[in-house]
Amino acid sequence: MKEINHFINGEMFVSQGKAQSVFNPATGEVNATLHFADEATIELAIKAATAALPAWSATPPVRRARVLFKYKTLLEKNLDELASLITAEHGKTLTDARGSVQRGIEVVELACGVPYLLRGSYAENAATDVDCYSMRQPLGICVGITPFNFPAMIPLWMFPMAVACGNTFILKPSEKDPSCPLRLAELALEAGLPAGVLNVLQGDKTTVEKLITHPKVAAVSFVGSTPVAENIYQTATHHGKRVQAFGGAKNHCIIMPDADIDQAVAALLGAAYGSAGERCMAISAVVAVGNVADAFVAKLAPRVRALKIGPGTAADTEMGPLISKEHLQRVKSYVDLGVKEGADLVVDGRDFQLKDYQHGNFMGGCLFDKVTPTMRIYREEIFGPVLVVLRAPDFATALQLVNEHEYGNGTAIFTRDGGIARTFASQVKVGMVGINVPIPVPVAYQPFGGWKRSLFGDIHLHGDEGMRFYTKVKTVTQRWFENPVGTEFTLPTN
Ligand code: NAD
Repeated sequence: MKEINHFINGEMFVSQGKAQSVFNPATGEVNATLHFADEATIELAIKAATAALPAWSATPPVRRARVLFKYKTLLEKNLDELASLITAEHGKTLTDARGSVQRGIEVVELACGVPYLLRGSYAENAATDVDCYSMRQPLGICVGITPFNFPAMIPLWMFPMAVACGNTFILKPSEKDPSCPLRLAELALEAGLPAGVLNVLQGDKTTVEKLITHPKVAAVSFVGSTPVAENIYQTATHHGKRVQAFGGAKNHCIIMPDADIDQAVAALLGAAYGSAGERCMAISAVVAVGNVADAFVAKLAPRVRALKIGPGTAADTEMGPLISKEHLQRVKSYVDLGVKEGADLVVDGRDFQLKDYQHGNFMGGCLFDKVTPTMRIYREEIFGPVLVVLRAPDFATALQLVNEHEYGNGTAIFTRDGGIARTFASQVKVGMVGINVPIPVPVAYQPFGGWKRSLFGDIHLHGDEGMRFYTKVKTVTQRWFENPVGTEFTLPTN
């Protein structure tokens, strides 16, 4: 049986104590035994990250960037292996897994430009013979806690920028699919990242609690569900850390009566059911405006019934299994709840069985129509292949629905009307907006992050924001005494 351990100071570290199985969600088989970090192991990682910090933070940014250049090429070279590790433990299709690694590599590319991002600013002669300049310096040890649904992409949205900025890093990946993040760390060492700059600790809640309260940790980046995000934000800020904690979502897509329905149906099929709906940017609620709902549901339903469901390794699979048996039951129980709440279950995927994979966590796509805003299947994040359709009489009502929802991660509108699209982009209370784009995950050089209860803290990931999160600003005002000045008792002005 494969054993999964920790990566500390450039080496695999084997710990004793608590362990749990890592499963293949398509077959239900145990893939590996995962060992959790105990207190001594956590201390070892902190020690390694502390020891590596002075030399790494003093390394010129351009040399740090060169390591990242090499890392980018290594990630590309090993893309197939990384994707296979993801599919084996997460279940998503190999093509989707490859795409997610690629979206992670884009942030490595961004981090290669760190000398430019860190260049600061200089104001000559800010006052007579006085210059003023600002610079960005690393924070120290940064911690990243990541969810199961993007085991490569989300860690890659964090640590490359953090280390490029001169910090050291401890990653605590999801205990459900830890193999790919571990491989990411090995490749970083191979690329030339000094030992101790990037460490990986395996574990769960207990490991996280120790890390986010540890006096040597300067900053915490978290991505996961909202209750955990909120708790991590409160606890870690209480302990003096800089924190960004990204939470859950209920992403709405408004379909206007003038939209190209075929285009919207095609886009939403992938956006709602791709990766079995286990994406924080998945569309999980459609708001159909005016009379568009009947045509939309009539066209979408047969496509949902016809989804090709299978193991992520099969070339023609469109939708793989859910992450775990518990999660499968949770998602199915939401479908039961929707029926009880009185929504119209147009496509019922609860009884789906995949031949030869009876122990896999498969279910079919589900589609609810005539859902109302008070129903729990609308209010809560289901995080599975379940799309709910609400009907709104006009754009203003649809916009209000989106704005009143507690989550504000992503949203989209399908329309041919530029004026409506512009009003939507301007007035919607959501962090990432798509116009005829169903999953508006921004490119690496633009910021990623939600609003409302989808993000605790206010600095987003990647774009300039990542660099801002992982550095603190220092501003220097300097004068050289060629023209001597006397004592000043008043606040200097220009
Ligand atoms: P999760 O909250 O269960 O776990 C996330 C991480 O936190 C894991 O590493 C886990 O070990 C740790 N953890 C779990 N419970 C904890 C606790 N009580 N205290 C401290 N740490 C704890 O999330 P998940 O199931 O792995 O991921 C799915 C969730 O992540 C969904 O809600 C999804 O919307 C969200 N997500 C959000 C974004 C975003 O950008 N906003 C991106 C991806 C996923």
